[in-house]
Amino acid sequence: MSDPRARIIRGRILSFVGAPRLAGPRAMPVVEDGAVLMENGRIAAVGEAAATIAKAPAGAAVDDHAGKLVTAGFIDTHIHYPQTRVIASYGAQLLEWLQKYTFVEEQRLRDRGHAEVVARFFLDELFRQGTTTAMVYCTVHPESVDAFFEEALKRGARMIAGKVMMDRNAPPGLMDDPRRGYDESKALIARWRGRGRLDYAVTPRFAVTSSEAQLEAAGALLRETPGAYMQTHLDENVAEIAFVKQQFPWAASYLAVYERYGLLGRRSVFGHCIHLERSEVAAMAASGSVAAFCPTSNLFLGSGLFDMKRLDENGVRISLATDVGGGTSYSMLQTANEAYKVLQMGGQSWPAVQAFYQMTLGNARALGLEDRIGSIREGLEADIVVLDARATPAMAHRMDSVAGDLAEELFILMMMGDDRAVRQTYVAGRPVKDAPA
Ligand SMILES: [Zn+2]
Repeated sequence: MSDPRARIIRGRILSFVGAPRLAGPRAMPVVEDGAVLMENGRIAAVGEAAATIAKAPAGAAVDDHAGKLVTAGFIDTHIHYPQTRVIASYGAQLLEWLQKYTFVEEQRLRDRGHAEVVARFFLDELFRQGTTTAMVYCTVHPESVDAFFEEALKRGARMIAGKVMMDRNAPPGLMDDPRRGYDESKALIARWRGRGRLDYAVTPRFAVTSSEAQLEAAGALLRETPGAYMQTHLDENVAEIAFVKQQFPWAASYLAVYERYGLLGRRSVFGHCIHLERSEVAAMAASGSVAAFCPTSNLFLGSGLFDMKRLDENGVRISLATDVGGGTSYSMLQTANEAYKVLQMGGQSWPAVQAFYQMTLGNARALGLEDRIGSIREGLEADIVVLDARATPAMAHRMDSVAGDLAEELFILMMMGDDRAVRQTYVAGRPVKDAPA
């Protein structure tokens, strides 16, 4: 729920109004002694501290974060909440990792009670890390979706999630069938979509675990639910790609499988997109589909290096994501850190301002949510994070050599920062870091 009481955050306000690559420094106005006034879950005013505080009603709470950076909450565009107990499982590439760890743990989420425990942990952890919105995979069990949405609704968070659809190449306990996958997804959409700040993503896990009939059903769900999202995986691992080609011999490419069933579009987010063929890049761009860059996962599972420059130059929309539990950190700061290194391996540069843009407004735009979240602007939902670039002794030591250079400070935050650098997180105007839900 949102906080009905007015609350002021005082600090250095950093909020993007455009992409830094296109707009340059104008993309990122900073108010050194600024304040944000939040009322009824929304941003009521933002600007110079004195003027903003003067607008506050009597009795408004004041959270003084003077000197700390105040930005929009982070957005994670690809994450699996049922994998919180298998994060950091040793030694396997994608297909083996799924069988050995993930599919074992995901079966436990059939139990609603267990799913609730995991959902609570997951949301607590996201908030501790400054992440206020995520696009989330549940398991094949409707109970796992109910547990997640129930908890997100209670906390007033903007979340997108969906029931995984899988009807082959998985343990029996993790499979539905085309009819059941469709019916259960349909019922979940009716039950949850549009309640609070929740939205639904039709979620065929990937082509490996869905039959043609199931992908057809996923396409039907999307057609019948205007504005709904679609999330799946694409071109992550070479063995996976070979397997897909074997299963769909008629398809010209991996993406052509999804294309055949109408799964591409501006609200479709494809995790990984590492080994794209030229025709796939063109189809991603033409359809406005989003490629979710998941660097810690790609390194951890040995999948490969994301080529941001190539996708960007070809007009593919890009987002950044953790992909926990293939990903190894819930922190978007640490995800940006590893993204920077992946891009370095490809000879590509990625200034910190672009990384911060991507974690906030960039990811909001990728999800078509920039009129609700992703920046600190009057009327938007009050999802905000406060960051401290001196959070650890090593960071403070490093910061001593920075003479008021914001780009350097942001770079230190993304290379050295994690949950310790998140001083507070606000969801719908309410402080939620380490707060009881
Ligand atoms: Zn994933």
